[in-house]
Amino acid sequence: MDGVELERQDQVARGQVAQDRVAELAGWIADGGVVVLSGAGLSTESGIPDYRGPSGIARRVTPMTYQAFTRDPVARRRYWARSHLGWRTIGDARPNAGHRAVARLQELSALDGIITQNVDGLHQAGGAADVVELHGNLARIACLDCGSLSPRAELADRLNAANPGFAATASAINPDGDVELDDRELDGFVVLDCASCGGMLKPDVVYFGETVPPDRVSRSFELVCAARTLLVLGSSLTVMSGRRFVLRAAKEGIRVAIVNQGVTRGEPYASLIVDAPLGMVLPEVVERVEGVAVST
Ligand SMILES: [Zn+2]
Repeated sequence: MDGVELERQDQVARGQVAQDRVAELAGWIADGGVVVLSGAGLSTESGIPDYRGPSGIARRVTPMTYQAFTRDPVARRRYWARSHLGWRTIGDARPNAGHRAVARLQELSALDGIITQNVDGLHQAGGAADVVELHGNLARIACLDCGSLSPRAELADRLNAANPGFAATASAINPDGDVELDDRELDGFVVLDCASCGGMLKPDVVYFGETVPPDRVSRSFELVCAARTLLVLGSSLTVMSGRRFVLRAAKEGIRVAIVNQGVTRGEPYASLIVDAPLGMVLPEVVERVEGVAVST
């Protein structure tokens, strides 16, 4: 047997293992009582980069902290300039086959809950409902003073009007949607305040150094603890904000399945792991679940 033949056999064997795992996963999901915990890996196929994923894109811009945002006007101005540009990528992103598959599983009554670490709103755009958005949603803007929430699209229009010329320069510099601009350009950016009270505006997302609102955390623990299966989709579980739910599930004897491309820190707690692109695996799972009645 030559090397090519050995490699071919190896590929067939690996494909078989993956198939067996997908079939087992579909069986678990058809049992019902599934709670989904999704992360950045679910949205990479929609063109939103995962800084911790296997694509290995290093985070070039230091993540904004709540402290810097609220206390440092220069940092805030630069953040808004970058965020305004980044919004184009996020705002234009469309749900992929993975998001649609999750929505379909919900429709089939296989899911008892969806918890996401993503701030892109793509679960809902893909047709899912009742999503717990642990880290908020970039499509909403919150006023830190009066607490009012408003659509991001509205602020984007106001920012475009207040910064004529800025968008044109920036789009020429950033064809890949990644946002890096010279500080001089960022410093010329005009930041806007709340239209009703003049207060400080902030995207309605949880920053580094900020805690997830307690009601979202307790709702998530409730869902996880009542689940038959915790299904992690596209998360390397690097941050405790997501990993704690897997730890709790394992402690409560709830089975954990992970579909993720690349390594995950949830490995010691999961009894079923599928390492493959989500947009490929999840539609296949749906097809199998559709073929059997979901238990309730
Ligand atoms: Zn306000």
